Amino acid sequence: MKIDLHVHTANISFCGHLTIEEVISLYKKTDYDAIVITDHFYGGNAEAWEEKGIDNFLEYYFQTQQKAMKLGEENGLLVLPGYEFRFPQNCNDYLVYGFTEEHAKKCPGFFQMDIAQFSEFAKENGILLYQAHPFRNTMTVVKPEYLFGIEAHNGHPRHDSRNDIAVQWAKKYNLHTIGGSDCHQIEDVGSAGIITDYPVKNITDLVHVLKNDLYTIFHN
Ligand SMILES: [Zn+2]
Ligand SMILES: [Zn+2]
Repeated sequence: MKIDLHVHTANISFCGHLTIEEVISLYKKTDYDAIVITDHFYGGNAEAWEEKGIDNFLEYYFQTQQKAMKLGEENGLLVLPGYEFRFPQNCNDYLVYGFTEEHAKKCPGFFQMDIAQFSEFAKENGILLYQAHPFRNTMTVVKPEYLFGIEAHNGHPRHDSRNDIAVQWAKKYNLHTIGGSDCHQIEDVGSAGIITDYPVKNITDLVHVLKNDLYTIFHN
C-alpha cells in the first residue's frame, strides 16, 4: 500500500489551497491507496478560524476530519486522521499519529503545552510524535528523546527542508523516519510517502506499521 502521511486541506489549514473534495479526487488519480490528513492544529490556526466565525475550533476540526474520512470511504480512498501540531514556544511543527478526540478531551490544555510535556503525554498514550521538516528555516532542533522520529523526507517544493541533513540526524540519534508530501496545492500531490505490505485499514493499523517500521519511504 502506498500512503501519504502529510496532507493539508483548505477546510482546516489556512495555508491549504485544496478542499477535502479536491484532495480526494486528486489522490484517486494517483497510485496512492491512502492519505493521512494532517491539518494544522494549534492556537494561531484556531484563532484565525474563530475570527471567521467558527466558535469551537476543536469541534469544527474533528467534525471536518470525520467528514473527510467519510468522503474518502465513499470514493474508495482510505483517509486517516493525523495532525500537525505547533506549541506556543516556537514555530516547530510536529506530525502526530494516534491522537484522538478523546485525548483532546482528556487533556484540554494540550494547546498550551511545550514539547517536553506533550512528549510525555504522547508516550503515556501510545501516540507517535515526529518533528516535521526539522531542518527547514525557522525550525528549532529539539532533544531527540522527546520524539519518536522525524520527517526525513518532506516533499514540499516551495521550501528547502534539507532532507539530507534530516536523514543524517535520524541516523545519528536513532530516530524513526517518515516521508510525506506536505501537500498544500495541486503540484504537491503525492510527492512523498511510505509503502507497506501491511493491509492498513484504520489509524490503529497505521500506528502499528509506523511503530514497527514495516515500511519503506517513497519520494520523487
Ligand atoms: Zn501549512
Ligand atoms: Zn504540513
